[in-house]
Amino acid sequence: MSELLKIEGLTVTAEDKELLHGIDLSVGEGETHVLMGHNGAGKSTLGCAVMGSPEYSVTGGKIYFGGEDITEETADKRAGRGIFLSFQNPVEIPGITLSEFLRNALEQQTGKRIKLFEHKKNLSAAMSVLEMDSSYADRDLNVGFSGGEKKKAEILQLLMLKPRLAILDETDSGLDVDAVRTVSKGIEEYRKSVGGTLLIITHNAKILEELKVDRTHILSEGKVIREGDGQLAFDVLANGFEKYIGGVNDEKEN
Ligand code: ADP
Ligand code: MG
Repeated sequence: MSELLKIEGLTVTAEDKELLHGIDLSVGEGETHVLMGHNGAGKSTLGCAVMGSPEYSVTGGKIYFGGEDITEETADKRAGRGIFLSFQNPVEIPGITLSEFLRNALEQQTGKRIKLFEHKKNLSAAMSVLEMDSSYADRDLNVGFSGGEKKKAEILQLLMLKPRLAILDETDSGLDVDAVRTVSKGIEEYRKSVGGTLLIITHNAKILEELKVDRTHILSEGKVIREGDGQLAFDVLANGFEKYIGGVNDEKEN
């Protein structure tokens, strides 16, 4: 399978502090990868660096997307290429409805005007996959949404914007069991209908069970300390990180 995302020797700095120290990580087209690690390991930083967030400076290494070097590109350009990053804490945007937000984003992405009728039709189909009440389309983005509703709104973006690579940063945090199932269903739909590639940051067993994970990467103190297949994610949940952090640093599975 060809590599969609390839990160080579990436070092990243914020506020004069080096946070990532030489990350190597590749994600094949159409695959689902999970990124795990303690709080503060650098998972969100890595997601932001791939997205091109200006808060973080790349001081070494390269990021390739679809074989092209995007290390120096702006976040806008990367979004245009089809890289999507969901935030751990989604922003609220008063004055712009969910429907308008998505229509604007789609128009920006395609450079074409989208007919309102068509947009509403597509939006309502995607919302029904996520079991979202249609009234949410006309509410201001994320304003007064519960944690679960914000997360659903993010997955809705995946289904509508159809990015080539979706980086989901703890999309499951704060969700109840039913919401986790719905979110998983949305992610599965994204994978099936869009053929999307996923890099998911999660420690949620239920999410991991529902998605077929191809590969697991464990981060500790800004380094990838272990990689393995989907089973490794479950081993980590069962045994904790310490086993992997202590003493087996350079060992890599299959
Ligand atoms: P994780 O998502 O794995 O919990 P983060 O990537 O959020 O970890 O953070 C990794 C480390 O980098 C933490 O020590 C955090 O305090 C630090 N860090 C993250 N963002 C910044 C920033 N913008 N400026 C300074 N330090 C940061
Ligand atoms: Mg984080």
